[in-house]
Amino acid sequence: MTTTVSAYAANSATDPLTKTTIERRDLGPHDVAFDIKFAGICHSDIHTVKGEWGGANYPVVPGHEIAGVVTAIGSAVTRYQVGDRVGVGCFVDSCRECENCEAGLQQYCTGPGGMRGTYNSTERDGSPTYGGYSTAMVVDENYVLRIPDAISLDKAAPLLCAGVTVWSPLRHWNAGPDKRVAVIGLGGLGHMAVKLATAMGAEVTVLSQSLKKMEDGLRLGAVAYHATSDPDTFTQLAGRFDLIINTVSANLDMAAYLGLLALDGTLVELGAPEKPLVVPFFPLGAMRRSLTGSMIGGIPETQDMLDFCAEHDVTPEIEVIEASYINEAYQRVVSSDVRYRFVIDASTI
Ligand code: NAP
Ligand code: ZN
Ligand code: ZN
Repeated sequence: MTTTVSAYAANSATDPLTKTTIERRDLGPHDVAFDIKFAGICHSDIHTVKGEWGGANYPVVPGHEIAGVVTAIGSAVTRYQVGDRVGVGCFVDSCRECENCEAGLQQYCTGPGGMRGTYNSTERDGSPTYGGYSTAMVVDENYVLRIPDAISLDKAAPLLCAGVTVWSPLRHWNAGPDKRVAVIGLGGLGHMAVKLATAMGAEVTVLSQSLKKMEDGLRLGAVAYHATSDPDTFTQLAGRFDLIINTVSANLDMAAYLGLLALDGTLVELGAPEKPLVVPFFPLGAMRRSLTGSMIGGIPETQDMLDFCAEHDVTPEIEVIEASYINEAYQRVVSSDVRYRFVIDASTI
């Protein structure tokens, strides 16, 4: 016995997303069932649906920025009750036994099956996972987050991926007072990076393709805003930053951006473009710079991020849309016309 729920799915790399139904499993002893209220649109949803990372198993029901309200709990559930406000991010299970799972870094699970993605992945029994562009979901309580009362559910949704994906490297590489942080790309991830790094006390600069969104960038907390289409930006800011967070979904001239780091500075690649990055030796070796990457965040750090956002009043700038607008929203994200996260009102699915 399963429960049939409404969803939006992509049936191929080229078809628009359309309304359909999917099955959700019956409540197991450790499961939490919840009604989805809002689901954010992440650029990763678009990469996946379009097959840009390969390996999409259609139909794909995307959505890994999910916020809702608990409707039922399994007999052994201890952390949640009916009526609780909850969220689910990019994964719904992992091995729970490897060193990284033990450390609460489930996104880096090295055990059998690894991190089990919220969609386009499989459950332990081999059944496909379907994401948040749907009306209800069943998830093990260990992979469910608590949404603080101070954060509305529509604004909480994007924190589950965009928020934690920038939070994790900002924390890991010690963004804070006396640190000069640059954020490349003012989209979903980028605008959260500006807000969070500012709240952590860092001095933040935005590097955007143009100056179109400058007013927003400064309002969100940045002290400087530069256009990367202007070659002067790269001479003016050479060697300036301790930390650069790259959120761009396309391939950039890595040499040019590495040149903006100070001695021992770090560029964290968060964008996941279709093609490999090209990294020449000189800007890297010349100043003992580091190029690294980071992937989303574990359950404990996601909860820390949510609690920090509630305490510091940090929330995303969103545009709530009806489900029928998803395909248009995808177009707008691809053309960098999003301010700064589309969030689907699940009652319209
Ligand atoms: P988004 O909202 O589309 O933001 C990306 C921003 O990058 C755009 O708003 C734009 O900012 C800039 N940009 C886009 N195309 C560009 C180009 N051709 N050249 C230069 N800049 C360009 O996307 P998102 O949801 O924030 O996701 C960003 C990337 O991170 C995606 O590749 C996504 O898959 C990836 N991601 C990774 C993780 C992870 O765990 N590492 C998690 C989530 C997402 P400006 O207009 O300001 O230039
Ligand atoms: Zn995402
Ligand atoms: Zn593991």
